Amino acid sequence: MPRRKQTVDAQLAQTFQDRLLTWYATHKRDLPWRNTSDPYKILVSEIMLQQTQVDRVIPKYEEFLQKYPTLEALANAPVEEVTQTWYPLGYNVRPVRLQSIAREAVERYGGKIPDDAEALQSLKGVGRYTAGAILSFAFGREAPILDTNVRRVLHRVFFGEGDAKGYGVQKQLWELSEVLIPAGKGYDFNQGLMDFGATMCTARKPLCLLCPLNDICKAYPCSA
Ligand code: SF4
Repeated sequence: MPRRKQTVDAQLAQTFQDRLLTWYATHKRDLPWRNTSDPYKILVSEIMLQQTQVDRVIPKYEEFLQKYPTLEALANAPVEEVTQTWYPLGYNVRPVRLQSIAREAVERYGGKIPDDAEALQSLKGVGRYTAGAILSFAFGREAPILDTNVRRVLHRVFFGEGDAKGYGVQKQLWELSEVLIPAGKGYDFNQGLMDFGATMCTARKPLCLLCPLNDICKAYPCSA
């Protein structure tokens, strides 16, 4: 089936943006990392949220930042202590990676998280998604993000059901996530996409009948 296009119809894009932003305005989750624009705190939240549910991350995020309130504090801590503080989040490579990012930022960028995509992705452990999240959530840039939730939403709405993980599809989904960002609204749009995927267009039980996008969604009614 001919399902993937490089471009999006302007009217469809506008409808998608408007409805997502309207939905987000009334359904956004109150999450502690949304009360800050400190790039370090955003970085900590993003690394914690990799493979861990939000409700498990929240208490650890707060504890971790009390113990390591700045990039320098984290960079200077013993790695064993950082790993212990991370417990029981799991995937122990993450605290080690996070601390190595902090150390690199201190050494190479004067203790600051850089604010451009290339420099961010040159930090070992920062991929395209994390760079986009830091750019849009900390620096207010119109930078694309593509995590599991965003990938699922965009694929379902614009391509329909099916595999959203193949290489060619990834490329097109990244392009979509970039062209869809409304000017000046990167923060709300990206947060909205993530919330929408986490609470409305979920992997196993999408709420299609209640969905504000169901008349433009190629996967509706979704059989997931
Ligand atoms: S109609 Fe269903 S599959 Fe489509 S975006 Fe809404 S919740 Fe997701």
